[in-house]
Amino acid sequence: MLESIVGINWGDEGKGRMVDLLSKDYDIVCRYQGGNNAGHTVINDKGKFILNLLPSGILREDVVCVMGPGMVIDIKHLAGEMKKLREAGIRISPDNLKISDRAVITMPYNVQQDCLEEERLADKKFGSTKRGIAPVYADKYLKKAFRMGELLNPVLLKKRIPDIVEWKNLTLVNAYGAAPATVEEIEAYFEEYGAPLKEYICDTGLYLNQAAAEGKNIMFEAQLGALRDIDFGIYPYTSSSSTIAAYAPIGAGVPNLKLSKTIGIMKAYSSCVGEGPFTAEYFGEKAEKLREAGGEYGAATGRPRRVGPFDVVASKYGIRCQGADEIALTKLDVLSGHEEIEVCEAYELNGKILTEFPFTDVLDDCKPVFKKMKGWNSDISACRKKEDLPKEALDYIRYIERACNCKIRYVSVGAERDAYIEM
Ligand code: GDP
Ligand code: MG
Repeated sequence: MLESIVGINWGDEGKGRMVDLLSKDYDIVCRYQGGNNAGHTVINDKGKFILNLLPSGILREDVVCVMGPGMVIDIKHLAGEMKKLREAGIRISPDNLKISDRAVITMPYNVQQDCLEEERLADKKFGSTKRGIAPVYADKYLKKAFRMGELLNPVLLKKRIPDIVEWKNLTLVNAYGAAPATVEEIEAYFEEYGAPLKEYICDTGLYLNQAAAEGKNIMFEAQLGALRDIDFGIYPYTSSSSTIAAYAPIGAGVPNLKLSKTIGIMKAYSSCVGEGPFTAEYFGEKAEKLREAGGEYGAATGRPRRVGPFDVVASKYGIRCQGADEIALTKLDVLSGHEEIEVCEAYELNGKILTEFPFTDVLDDCKPVFKKMKGWNSDISACRKKEDLPKEALDYIRYIERACNCKIRYVSVGAERDAYIEM
């Protein structure tokens, strides 16, 4: 079984939570893109964890976690994340964590560049998480990045550093007037944070291929959602990597293998961190209420998330981009206690009704068309079976299935591992 778990919306759909739950049936969980701009919150019997780089399978003793070649890894951040988890009693060793030699290293100067650029943009800023993600992916494609495997060959690595530092300083110093990076600090950085990771670094593609040949179950875990994908999202307000399921075999290092299933994680309402068009957005008191009810504050940054009702147009597009076979609808409990619930059923553009997600440029001019549905007054967080749900909640689920032409297999009604219903 080779399955991917991906986001249908703008991210923060509860992927970490669903990976933690569903990984009980898997031997391996592999993160295949992005970096520590991810914030996956997992709550289970071991405690509450926020994972940025480590796959959300790390909390299960018998699951092996892989960080794939599609990732960008801030090694200092990773050291901190591993330390925190160990302090909470989680075992992390080369037996249960494997880091791809081809994964790219996010450098301190990439984080610096990210901050400098957001400062330069001022009120036109992108809402970057300032974790260096866009600059490091740019370096990757410019072929000026360092990769994890280079840490295994310190002699060659040492030779490359001066050239890269000289090149990077052209930007830091000349473009931004910032302090230059130095060869000494980069060497010291690799020594302090890179050297301890050496025993984790390997050819994870080979490892996953062997595991697949042995019939092991492998899950590919995505970060963010379809609408933040570099190619299909709300460019330029996207992330810099592919958040799409079809990229999973590549980002995981097994381009020769085919996915057997894709599970899309879709939120029962909408949330969006950072800038960019967000058609169904709520403002004022309506937004405050939903944000409070859903605890919508960024896990990686603490920023209040923008919120709105469920968006049929964007979600349908997200499901299509992801090729999702099954959906987990998350955070349905957040919508409890309302007479009426709104959904955004279509967009209006200059008097025309759109039911398909348009090209990004026209999104700013689109107005949401809301439809009202009957809400439910009872608390559903203790429901564990379909039959436990109030009729209106079931109607809401069925409406979404019909409107988005998808099959909802799981519904989550709380943040804890077991707070879900299999439909
Ligand atoms: P991810 O980035 O997709 O992994 O999602 P995040 O962890 O950033 O955001 C999801 C948030 O919702 C986290 O704080 C979770 O603890 C929480 N959460 C997940 N599922 C549920 C649910 O069914 N109900 C409620 N109330 N909270 C949930
Ligand atoms: Mg998140």
